[in-house]
Amino acid sequence: MSETKTPTPREAFELLLAGNQRFVAGSPEHPNQDAARRAEIAPSQRPFAVLFGCSDSRLAAEIIFDRGLGDLFVVRTAGHVVGAEVLGSIEFGVEVLGCPLVVVLGHDSCGAVGAACSALENGMTPAGYIRDVVERVTPSVLAARAAGQVEPQEVLAEHIRHTADLLLDRSRVLADKVAAGQAAVVGLRYRLADGSAQLVASRGLDAQVPTS
Ligand SMILES: [Zn+2]
Repeated sequence: MSETKTPTPREAFELLLAGNQRFVAGSPEHPNQDAARRAEIAPSQRPFAVLFGCSDSRLAAEIIFDRGLGDLFVVRTAGHVVGAEVLGSIEFGVEVLGCPLVVVLGHDSCGAVGAACSALENGMTPAGYIRDVVERVTPSVLAARAAGQVEPQEVLAEHIRHTADLLLDRSRVLADKVAAGQAAVVGLRYRLADGSAQLVASRGLDAQVPTS
């Protein structure tokens, strides 16, 4: 990858996928993690993707995509729930830093998704601000149920898709970038057991295909 050229959304996605495949295979290259890279990017950063994922400790972004310093602009909240600070951070990554790709990263056995399902089943909502997290996952669970999706994997996929669409619905900056073909939003479903990430949502990924 060139040091100065910004990758297309598709190129950025392929970079991430390749890194995840190395991680899954147990043959990571640990790119961009040495002193030379540290010195190179100290003056300015040029990450190729915004990674917005769940805070789960098993979802460490640079590890599971086999990347290093200056590669990913990472935003994480429990259950990848969205608020003003999340939207502002993502807009910063896309608008100011020029990231061509925004990734929504969810995973199986997500505590936030499980808590939202439990809250709907037994009417019990958690105390404190954990409740705020659960309440922001609930619309996704309701949408999944309305569509007849009850399996945990299906509910999770719906929450990831719902989150991707919510970002585009709430952020005009992001929506404009996607409409112009300068950015894409993808949703990935991560499997804790084998470390693989599966595409479950794609918004604008191949909107701008070179014609030559
Ligand atoms: Zn989670």
